[in-house]
Order: sequence, then C-alpha cells, then structure tokens
Amino acid sequence: MAKTTEQQILDALKTIIDPASGRDIVTQGLVQGLALNNGNAQFALGIDPARAKEYEPVRQRAERVVADLPGVLSATALLTAERAPAAAAPRQGPPKINLPSVRSIVAVASGKGGVGKSTTTTNLAVALAARGLKVGLLDADIYGPSQPRLMGISGKPRSPDGKVMEPMQNHGVKVMSIGFLLDDDKPVIWRGPMVVSALQQMLRDVAWGELDILLVDMPPGTGDIQLSMAQSVPLTGAVIVSTPQDIALIDARRGLNMFRRVEVPVFGFVENMSYFSCPHCGGRSDIFGHGGAADEARKLGTDFLGEIPLHIAIRETSDAGTPITVTDPGSAHSQAYTAIAATIWGKVEAILGGGGRAAPRIVME
Ligand code: ADP
Repeated sequence: MAKTTEQQILDALKTIIDPASGRDIVTQGLVQGLALNNGNAQFALGIDPARAKEYEPVRQRAERVVADLPGVLSATALLTAERAPAAAAPRQGPPKINLPSVRSIVAVASGKGGVGKSTTTTNLAVALAARGLKVGLLDADIYGPSQPRLMGISGKPRSPDGKVMEPMQNHGVKVMSIGFLLDDDKPVIWRGPMVVSALQQMLRDVAWGELDILLVDMPPGTGDIQLSMAQSVPLTGAVIVSTPQDIALIDARRGLNMFRRVEVPVFGFVENMSYFSCPHCGGRSDIFGHGGAADEARKLGTDFLGEIPLHIAIRETSDAGTPITVTDPGSAHSQAYTAIAATIWGKVEAILGGGGRAAPRIVME
C-alpha cells in the first residue's frame, strides 16, 4: 500500500472550503498540528469558538477526506479555539481524576512516533519493579498500543463485578492497555473527548490497588489530544524520549513545552538509539552524532536522564514480550534503564517528600 504523506493529506484538505472566508481551509491556515503516525492522522482546525456549531460539518468532512486516502487507517480532527489563551494562563482542561491508592503518575512522552517511547516505558517499568516498587503501566498510546506485545500479555482483562476491571500483570508490573479493549484488525476513529474519557476510564475503572508509581505510555506527539490527556491526569511528572537527530530533538522540545504549559514538571530527556552498539564486535558507533539530547536538555533547562544504545537485543527482546531488563538484567543495556529508573524515582520521591503524598496542586480556573 502506498504510504500517504502529510502533503497528500494537506492536498485532500484543500478541497474543503472555510465557510467564513470562502477560501480552502489549508490556505486559510485553519489546519494545525497535523501529525501522521503509523497511518493514523490527526490535526486540529483552529476556529472562532463562537462558531463551533457551524464548523462541525467542516470537521466531519475533513476527517472523511483524510480517512478516505489510501494508507490512512484513521483520521481525527478536532476543533480548537483559534487564538491560544494568554501564554501564562494554563488552559482549562478536563477535570482531573483523583486516584488515592496511586502515589505517583509519570507520563512517558515523545514528540513523534518511532523513537522507542514504548520500549523505554516497558523497560523502565520493569526496572522500577526490580527496585521493589509497586509499579503500574498504563498504555494510553491510542494510535499504536504496543504494551500487550512488549509486556508479553494477551487476552482480555477480567471484571468480576462488571464495573471495575482488573489490570493484567506480567514481569512484576500491573498493565492496562487500550489494546486489550480493542479488536486488533478494526481501525478506530478517535475523537478528542473519546480519547480523554478512555484514558480516564483506564485510570478510574481499573483496580490498580496500591501503586508507588504508574507510568503512562502516552500517544506520540504534542497535539491537542496529548495536551488534554496531560491535563486530565494528575501527573507527578513527565519524561521525554527522543533520538539524537536534530529533527527528533525539535519534537522533543515541543513535548517539553507542552508539559510546561500545563504545569507538569518535566523530569528530563532520555536519549534512545543514542549510538549503535554492534552485536558482533561490541563496538560503538555514534551514527547520529552524540550528545544531542544532553546539549538540548541543558539549553532548555531540563535534565538529561541517560542514554540507551540502539542494539538488536533490545528490539528482539521487546518483540518477544520479554524485555531485556527481564531476560538479561545484568547487561549494560539493562543497567542503563536501571540507572534512569533510579533517577526518575529519586525525582518522584523528592516531590512526594519522603514517603508522603504529593501536596495537592491548587489550580485556579
Ligand atoms: P514508539 O513507542 O516511540 O513508537 P517503539 O518503542 O515502538 O517506539 O520502538 C520502535 C521500534 O524501535 C521497535 O521495533 C522497537 O523494538 C525498536 N527499538 C526501540 N528502542 C530500541 C533500542 N534502544 N534498540 C533497538 N531497537 C529499539
């Protein structure tokens, strides 16, 4: 199947006319934040909120023309207010959920897909559990829920009382994934509010029990969906996974800004696929240059949490559902994850204040 490009999506959207200006919605600058990940397209239409009703058919048409493109599995278009509110004022988001038995929630995010965010989340979860912590992993990556495969879990979660679902469990980690709840072969069209309510349900209606830390594998990107998710969950902090290429770092910067905008502390950057670690000779090649994420973190006033090499063992163990932190905890790669997990936990503890609970954040709305 031909791979659809962002340009093809824009070309398709150019066939739709903006009722206010009579010009097409692309030329008029309504289309914002276009992202295409594994065939799942998402974008926003920036409009005057007073005219939202009038634009709903436009939004639907926009979704349809994109979804109809060969190679596109799903299309999500959101209507957003044209002008962002004053930079200092956090946007009013969906109400936050209260989870009294979960001591901390940390988002693992990336500016774009394919940087190894899910693989990193899996290995960090296992490494945190190996410290003796009670760890949960919530796979909120609606575009490509991969935690069932990475954590080697299949089947559907049980719900003995028909209300609350029991999380699945493997490698010492409790796991809930949108992937457990969806049919594999049916593409799902997600709308913004659906995404947020699915996430809230996976937090609220799952019997997580007592957890020290819940890692959330976020959908890649920094669009409105990610922003509403970040706002709807009481996040203790966020970790941003990037690769060393310049272009990926630009995306990582966007991720950082997104969390800062909703006042979630960013614990720092993890550089994945940092260098090539040769499985034959053990040698190291800095394919993409080296130190990009560390430099960038310094420039942006956040921390560099560590680097993970590109190594075939990491991919093979991931694909097999037996993360390298489980199969070979003594390896240098596992140690890299373990060190990053320790840093993250240190930051969480600093916020929790030595075993206590995070002070409730007061949000002025
Ligand atoms: P994302 O969640 O950012 O989309 P994934 O975690 O799914 O990315 O990783 C994308 C691909 O790269 C997967 O095939 C995964 O096995 C592989 N991968 C991720 N990190 C590494 C690594 N450090 N070394 C080798 N392969 C990796």
